[in-house]
Amino acid sequence: MALRIDGKKISTEIKDELKVKVEAYKEQGIDICLAVIQVGNDPASSVYVGNKKKACEYIGIRSLAYELEESVTQEELLSLIKTLNEREDVNGILVQLPLPKHIDEDVVIRAIDPKKDVDGFHPYSVGALSIGEEGFVSCTPAGIIQLCKRSGIEIAGKECVVIGRSNIVGKPISMLLLRENGTVTVCHSRTKDLKEVTKRADILVVAIGKPKFITKEYVKDGAVVIDVGIHRNENNKLCGDVDFDDVEPVASAITPVPGGVGPMTIAMLMNNCVEAVKLQK
Ligand code: NAD
Repeated sequence: MALRIDGKKISTEIKDELKVKVEAYKEQGIDICLAVIQVGNDPASSVYVGNKKKACEYIGIRSLAYELEESVTQEELLSLIKTLNEREDVNGILVQLPLPKHIDEDVVIRAIDPKKDVDGFHPYSVGALSIGEEGFVSCTPAGIIQLCKRSGIEIAGKECVVIGRSNIVGKPISMLLLRENGTVTVCHSRTKDLKEVTKRADILVVAIGKPKFITKEYVKDGAVVIDVGIHRNENNKLCGDVDFDDVEPVASAITPVPGGVGPMTIAMLMNNCVEAVKLQK
């Protein structure tokens, strides 16, 4: 029977540990603050932003919410970011993506002070990760490493295969697995004979964005399977990139969707807000 990696439980553990750290900072007169900017009122973004605010409240971080009209200009958004960069009481700045088409996301991400880049998307943060320097690591990949570590899954020396090479998941998780001394292979849409590669994996991380794409034919007996995908079917039910029922019997450990990788993203965002204080000192 595969171990079901419980992301809900592990993320709560992390948030409870952070609560203690936040309290200790408060005793030193440091009140950690995250600024969250949302442009427009896309319902999915509103849910994500709401969850981030709730997590801040839970661990005792102050959150500032900026809800800007869909029609806001890029200059107005950049000007707000500049103000928040300069404010000493703000430790983290997060711009909820995606942004409306008239705003260039890359320009916006680059405008955030790397010392406040709690999403870890700034090229400075990405560069720091790739050369092993201190900096913010993007939240979903950082969460995957915590899921493994806190479930007793050894990464060092293991064959790790990542499917997907996006900037927010595939590439950073590959760098992190490498940092943990895994032997890492990255697959993508142009990989030839995907099954042949994924069958070698002791740890298989799936971030393709295609519902139930990975079946047991892609998985080695006893592999650890981490499913990053999130999809909602016609009945409003969530599923991942992995066909859970098919793969669970052959895996040694597997993350469910929901309740696996998903809850870790916000926990690691909170962790980055707390780490921000150290980086800013
Ligand atoms: P993306 O669309 O940016 O990237 C998908 C990657 O999969 C690409 O690199 C592509 O080359 C690869 N790919 C596509 N089809 C393939 C195929 N047939 N064979 C091999 N590789 C293939 O996606 P993303 O932003 O990395 O997100 C992936 C999934 O993870 C999505 O379902 C997304 O919703 C989910 N996601 C979840 C969280 C979370 O917090 N749990 C965070 C980010 C993304």
